[in-house]
Amino acid sequence: MTEPEMTQSEPYRLYAIKYATHDRPRSMNFMRPPDPHDAPYPIDYFVWVCRSETRTVVIDTGFDQAAADARGRTLHRCPAESLKLVDVEPDEVEDVVITHMHYDHGGNLDKFPRATFHIQDLEMSYVTGRHMKYEILRSSYNVDDVTHLVRKLYNNRVTFHTGDEDLFPGLTLHHVGGHTQGMQFVRAWTERGWVVLASDAMHLYDNWVHQNPFPVVLHIGDMLEGHKKVARLADSPDHVVPGHDPKVMDLYPPPSDDLQGIVARVDLPPVRSGRTDPPMESG
Ligand SMILES: [Zn+2]
Repeated sequence: MTEPEMTQSEPYRLYAIKYATHDRPRSMNFMRPPDPHDAPYPIDYFVWVCRSETRTVVIDTGFDQAAADARGRTLHRCPAESLKLVDVEPDEVEDVVITHMHYDHGGNLDKFPRATFHIQDLEMSYVTGRHMKYEILRSSYNVDDVTHLVRKLYNNRVTFHTGDEDLFPGLTLHHVGGHTQGMQFVRAWTERGWVVLASDAMHLYDNWVHQNPFPVVLHIGDMLEGHKKVARLADSPDHVVPGHDPKVMDLYPPPSDDLQGIVARVDLPPVRSGRTDPPMESG
Protein backbone atom coordinates (compact mmCIF):
# COMPACT_ATOMS: atom_id res chain seq x y z
CA MET A 1 0.00 0.00 0.00
CA THR A 2 1.18 3.49 -0.73
CA GLU A 3 0.41 6.04 1.91
CA PRO A 4 -1.26 9.26 0.81
CA GLU A 5 1.16 11.82 -0.53
CA MET A 6 -0.64 14.54 1.33
CA THR A 7 0.62 14.87 4.87
CA GLN A 8 -1.47 14.49 7.99
CA SER A 9 -3.94 12.11 6.41
CA GLU A 10 -6.08 10.59 9.09
CA PRO A 11 -7.54 7.18 8.34
CA TYR A 12 -11.24 7.13 7.57
CA ARG A 13 -13.87 4.81 8.94
CA LEU A 14 -16.19 3.80 6.12
CA TYR A 15 -19.82 2.83 6.51
CA ALA A 16 -22.01 1.26 3.83
CA ILE A 17 -25.63 1.86 4.84
CA LYS A 18 -28.26 -0.24 3.08
CA TYR A 19 -31.48 1.69 2.54
CA ALA A 20 -33.41 -0.27 -0.11
CA THR A 21 -33.58 -3.49 -2.10
CA HIS A 22 -35.00 -4.72 -5.37
CA ASP A 23 -35.91 -8.36 -6.00
CA ARG A 24 -35.14 -8.89 -9.64
CA PRO A 25 -34.02 -11.54 -12.12
CA ARG A 26 -30.37 -12.01 -12.99
CA SER A 27 -31.00 -10.69 -16.51
CA MET A 28 -31.52 -7.18 -15.11
CA ASN A 29 -27.94 -7.14 -13.81
CA PHE A 30 -25.86 -8.49 -16.69
CA MET A 31 -25.58 -7.73 -20.38
CA ARG A 32 -24.90 -11.32 -21.40
CA PRO A 33 -27.88 -13.67 -21.06
CA PRO A 34 -28.00 -15.92 -18.00
CA ASP A 35 -27.08 -19.56 -18.31
CA PRO A 36 -29.22 -21.59 -18.17
CA HIS A 37 -32.04 -20.02 -16.11
CA ASP A 38 -32.89 -16.47 -15.28
CA ALA A 39 -32.59 -17.02 -11.52
CA PRO A 40 -33.40 -14.35 -8.91
CA TYR A 41 -30.56 -11.90 -8.28
CA PRO A 42 -31.69 -9.14 -5.88
CA ILE A 43 -29.63 -5.98 -5.44
CA ASP A 44 -29.18 -3.59 -2.53
CA TYR A 45 -29.09 0.21 -2.49
CA PHE A 46 -26.59 2.06 -0.31
CA VAL A 47 -25.35 5.41 0.85
CA TRP A 48 -21.84 5.61 2.27
CA VAL A 49 -20.20 7.65 5.03
CA CYS A 50 -16.48 8.46 5.37
CA ARG A 51 -15.49 9.69 8.84
CA SER A 52 -12.15 10.75 10.23
CA GLU A 53 -11.52 12.45 13.56
CA THR A 54 -12.15 15.82 11.98
CA ARG A 55 -14.27 15.28 8.89
CA THR A 56 -17.49 13.65 7.69
CA VAL A 57 -18.20 13.10 4.02
CA VAL A 58 -21.41 11.50 2.77
CA ILE A 59 -21.42 9.70 -0.57
CA ASP A 60 -24.74 9.76 -2.42
CA THR A 61 -28.17 10.58 -1.08
CA GLY A 62 -30.41 7.76 -2.32
CA PHE A 63 -34.09 7.96 -3.25
CA ASP A 64 -37.30 8.67 -1.37
CA GLN A 65 -40.58 6.79 -0.95
CA ALA A 66 -42.17 8.41 -4.01
CA ALA A 67 -39.32 7.20 -6.23
CA ALA A 68 -39.46 3.77 -4.60
CA ASP A 69 -43.20 3.56 -5.34
CA ALA A 70 -42.76 4.79 -8.91
CA ARG A 71 -40.09 2.19 -9.66
CA GLY A 72 -41.23 -0.76 -7.55
CA ARG A 73 -38.25 -0.69 -5.19
CA THR A 74 -38.49 -1.53 -1.48
CA LEU A 75 -37.35 1.40 0.66
CA HIS A 76 -36.25 0.14 4.08
CA ARG A 77 -35.33 3.50 5.55
CA CYS A 78 -34.89 7.09 4.48
CA PRO A 79 -31.26 7.38 3.32
CA ALA A 80 -30.82 10.75 5.05
CA GLU A 81 -32.37 9.59 8.31
CA SER A 82 -30.32 6.38 8.16
CA LEU A 83 -27.14 8.41 8.64
CA LYS A 84 -28.18 8.82 12.27
CA LEU A 85 -27.43 5.10 12.70
CA VAL A 86 -23.75 6.08 12.53
CA ASP A 87 -24.22 9.32 14.51
CA VAL A 88 -24.34 11.66 11.51
CA GLU A 89 -27.00 14.37 11.47
CA PRO A 90 -28.01 15.02 7.86
CA ASP A 91 -28.72 18.70 8.44
CA GLU A 92 -25.17 19.19 9.74
CA VAL A 93 -23.37 17.44 6.86
CA GLU A 94 -21.10 19.84 4.97
CA ASP A 95 -19.80 17.69 2.11
CA VAL A 96 -21.74 15.26 -0.07
CA VAL A 97 -20.16 13.51 -3.03
CA ILE A 98 -22.70 12.69 -5.73
CA THR A 99 -21.20 9.82 -7.72
CA HIS A 100 -23.77 10.39 -10.48
CA MET A 101 -27.29 11.76 -10.61
CA HIS A 102 -29.26 8.54 -11.25
CA TYR A 103 -32.44 8.49 -9.15
CA ASP A 104 -30.97 6.01 -6.67
CA HIS A 105 -27.92 8.18 -5.96
CA GLY A 106 -28.97 11.83 -6.22
CA GLY A 107 -32.39 12.22 -4.56
CA ASN A 108 -33.16 13.78 -1.18
CA LEU A 109 -30.87 16.78 -1.77
CA ASP A 110 -33.24 18.99 0.23
CA LYS A 111 -32.48 16.92 3.34
CA PHE A 112 -28.91 18.28 3.38
CA PRO A 113 -29.43 22.03 3.84
CA ARG A 114 -25.84 22.87 4.79
CA ALA A 115 -24.07 20.62 2.31
CA THR A 116 -21.88 21.38 -0.64
CA PHE A 117 -22.45 18.80 -3.37
CA HIS A 118 -19.40 17.51 -5.24
CA ILE A 119 -20.05 16.36 -8.80
CA GLN A 120 -18.14 15.90 -12.03
CA ASP A 121 -18.48 18.60 -14.70
CA LEU A 122 -19.39 15.92 -17.21
CA GLU A 123 -22.29 14.61 -15.13
CA MET A 124 -23.91 18.03 -14.85
CA SER A 125 -23.56 18.65 -18.57
CA TYR A 126 -24.80 15.13 -19.36
CA VAL A 127 -27.99 15.38 -17.28
CA THR A 128 -28.86 18.77 -18.74
CA GLY A 129 -27.71 18.09 -22.29
CA ARG A 130 -28.75 16.50 -25.56
CA HIS A 131 -28.49 12.87 -24.44
CA MET A 132 -31.50 13.42 -22.19
CA LYS A 133 -33.62 13.70 -25.33
CA TYR A 134 -33.56 9.89 -25.33
CA GLU A 135 -35.92 8.12 -22.99
CA ILE A 136 -33.62 5.13 -22.51
CA LEU A 137 -30.88 7.41 -21.16
CA ARG A 138 -33.01 9.79 -19.11
CA SER A 139 -35.19 7.05 -17.58
CA SER A 140 -32.64 6.37 -14.82
CA TYR A 141 -32.82 10.02 -13.78
CA ASN A 142 -35.54 11.89 -11.94
CA VAL A 143 -36.00 15.35 -13.42
CA ASP A 144 -36.94 16.77 -10.01
CA ASP A 145 -33.57 15.62 -8.63
CA VAL A 146 -31.78 17.26 -11.56
CA THR A 147 -33.78 20.46 -11.05
CA HIS A 148 -32.88 20.36 -7.39
CA LEU A 149 -29.21 20.12 -8.22
CA VAL A 150 -29.49 23.13 -10.52
CA ARG A 151 -31.13 25.03 -7.64
CA LYS A 152 -28.23 24.05 -5.39
CA LEU A 153 -25.87 25.36 -8.05
CA TYR A 154 -27.70 28.69 -8.09
CA ASN A 155 -27.39 28.76 -4.29
CA ASN A 156 -23.64 28.22 -4.65
CA ARG A 157 -23.82 24.76 -3.09
CA VAL A 158 -22.16 22.78 -5.90
CA THR A 159 -18.44 22.17 -6.38
CA PHE A 160 -17.36 20.81 -9.75
CA HIS A 161 -14.59 18.30 -10.26
CA THR A 162 -12.83 17.30 -13.45
CA GLY A 163 -11.40 13.83 -13.85
CA ASP A 164 -9.31 12.62 -10.92
CA GLU A 165 -8.85 15.01 -8.00
CA ASP A 166 -7.93 15.07 -4.34
CA LEU A 167 -11.05 15.99 -2.39
CA PHE A 168 -9.48 16.08 1.07
CA PRO A 169 -6.35 14.48 2.51
CA GLY A 170 -6.93 10.74 2.24
CA LEU A 171 -10.02 11.07 0.02
CA THR A 172 -9.75 11.13 -3.76
CA LEU A 173 -12.31 11.35 -6.58
CA HIS A 174 -12.00 9.45 -9.84
CA HIS A 175 -13.97 9.88 -13.04
CA VAL A 176 -14.99 6.90 -15.13
CA GLY A 177 -17.26 6.80 -18.13
CA GLY A 178 -19.40 3.84 -19.02
CA HIS A 179 -22.45 3.85 -16.76
CA THR A 180 -23.05 7.58 -17.26
CA GLN A 181 -20.91 10.27 -18.82
CA GLY A 182 -19.80 11.85 -15.55
CA MET A 183 -19.70 8.94 -13.12
CA GLN A 184 -17.14 9.28 -10.32
CA PHE A 185 -16.08 7.04 -7.46
CA VAL A 186 -14.31 7.69 -4.16
CA ARG A 187 -11.10 6.19 -2.81
CA ALA A 188 -10.47 6.51 0.93
CA TRP A 189 -7.42 6.01 3.11
CA THR A 190 -8.14 3.63 5.99
CA GLU A 191 -6.28 1.65 8.67
CA ARG A 192 -5.99 -1.19 6.11
CA GLY A 193 -4.91 0.98 3.19
CA TRP A 194 -6.78 2.37 0.20
CA VAL A 195 -10.38 1.24 -0.11
CA VAL A 196 -12.44 2.07 -3.19
CA LEU A 197 -16.13 2.81 -2.78
CA ALA A 198 -16.98 2.05 -6.38
CA SER A 199 -20.64 3.08 -6.47
CA ASP A 200 -21.88 2.28 -9.98
CA ALA A 201 -18.39 2.13 -11.48
CA MET A 202 -18.88 -1.49 -10.34
CA HIS A 203 -22.44 -2.48 -9.45
CA LEU A 204 -21.70 -6.09 -8.46
CA TYR A 205 -18.58 -8.18 -7.91
CA ASP A 206 -19.92 -10.51 -10.64
CA ASN A 207 -19.96 -7.70 -13.24
CA TRP A 208 -16.20 -7.47 -12.73
CA VAL A 209 -15.31 -11.11 -12.13
CA HIS A 210 -17.21 -12.33 -15.21
CA GLN A 211 -16.53 -9.19 -17.28
CA ASN A 212 -20.26 -9.09 -17.83
CA PRO A 213 -21.34 -5.45 -17.49
CA PHE A 214 -24.45 -4.08 -15.89
CA PRO A 215 -26.94 -3.38 -18.69
CA VAL A 216 -27.66 0.27 -17.83
CA VAL A 217 -24.78 1.66 -19.80
CA LEU A 218 -23.77 4.55 -22.03
CA HIS A 219 -20.47 3.03 -23.23
CA ILE A 220 -19.59 -0.63 -22.65
CA GLY A 221 -15.87 -0.28 -23.26
CA ASP A 222 -15.58 2.61 -20.83
CA MET A 223 -17.51 0.62 -18.24
CA LEU A 224 -15.07 -2.30 -18.53
CA GLU A 225 -12.15 0.12 -18.32
CA GLY A 226 -13.84 1.55 -15.23
CA HIS A 227 -13.79 -1.85 -13.52
CA LYS A 228 -10.05 -1.98 -14.13
CA LYS A 229 -9.57 1.54 -12.80
CA VAL A 230 -11.46 0.65 -9.63
CA ALA A 231 -9.29 -2.43 -9.15
CA ARG A 232 -6.08 -0.53 -9.88
CA LEU A 233 -6.77 2.13 -7.27
CA ALA A 234 -7.72 -0.32 -4.52
CA ASP A 235 -4.97 -1.99 -2.51
CA SER A 236 -6.35 -5.47 -3.30
CA PRO A 237 -9.56 -7.06 -4.62
CA ASP A 238 -10.66 -7.17 -0.98
CA HIS A 239 -10.41 -3.36 -0.91
CA VAL A 240 -13.11 -2.96 -3.61
CA VAL A 241 -16.66 -2.19 -2.43
CA PRO A 242 -19.22 -2.46 -5.24
CA GLY A 243 -22.21 -0.14 -5.39
CA HIS A 244 -25.17 -2.53 -5.29
CA ASP A 245 -23.89 -5.92 -4.17
CA PRO A 246 -25.79 -7.66 -1.34
CA LYS A 247 -22.54 -9.53 -0.58
CA VAL A 248 -21.18 -6.35 1.03
CA MET A 249 -23.46 -6.87 4.04
CA ASP A 250 -22.26 -10.47 4.46
CA LEU A 251 -18.56 -9.83 3.91
CA TYR A 252 -18.04 -6.89 6.25
CA PRO A 253 -18.74 -6.56 9.97
CA PRO A 254 -21.47 -4.29 11.33
CA PRO A 255 -20.40 -1.46 13.68
CA SER A 256 -22.56 -3.12 16.35
CA ASP A 257 -24.61 -6.33 16.51
CA ASP A 258 -27.95 -4.53 16.23
CA LEU A 259 -26.89 -3.09 12.84
CA GLN A 260 -26.18 -6.45 11.22
CA GLY A 261 -27.61 -6.42 7.71
CA ILE A 262 -28.10 -2.64 7.81
CA VAL A 263 -24.64 -1.07 8.17
CA ALA A 264 -21.24 -2.54 7.25
CA ARG A 265 -17.80 -1.24 8.28
CA VAL A 266 -15.99 -1.51 4.96
CA ASP A 267 -12.81 0.10 6.30
CA LEU A 268 -12.30 -3.14 8.24
CA PRO A 269 -11.12 -6.34 6.53
CA PRO A 270 -13.84 -8.67 5.24
CA VAL A 271 -14.80 -11.26 7.84
CA ARG A 272 -15.16 -14.06 5.31
CA SER A 273 -14.31 -14.80 1.75
CA GLY A 274 -17.38 -14.69 -0.45
CA ARG A 275 -16.10 -12.82 -3.41
CA THR A 276 -14.89 -14.89 -6.33
CA ASP A 277 -11.44 -14.07 -7.65
CA PRO A 278 -11.39 -11.24 -10.18
CA PRO A 279 -10.22 -11.86 -13.74
CA MET A 280 -6.52 -11.96 -14.47
CA GLU A 281 -5.84 -9.24 -16.95
CA SER A 282 -2.97 -7.20 -18.23
CA GLY A 283 -2.60 -3.56 -19.11
ZN1 LIG B 1 -27.13 2.79 -8.80
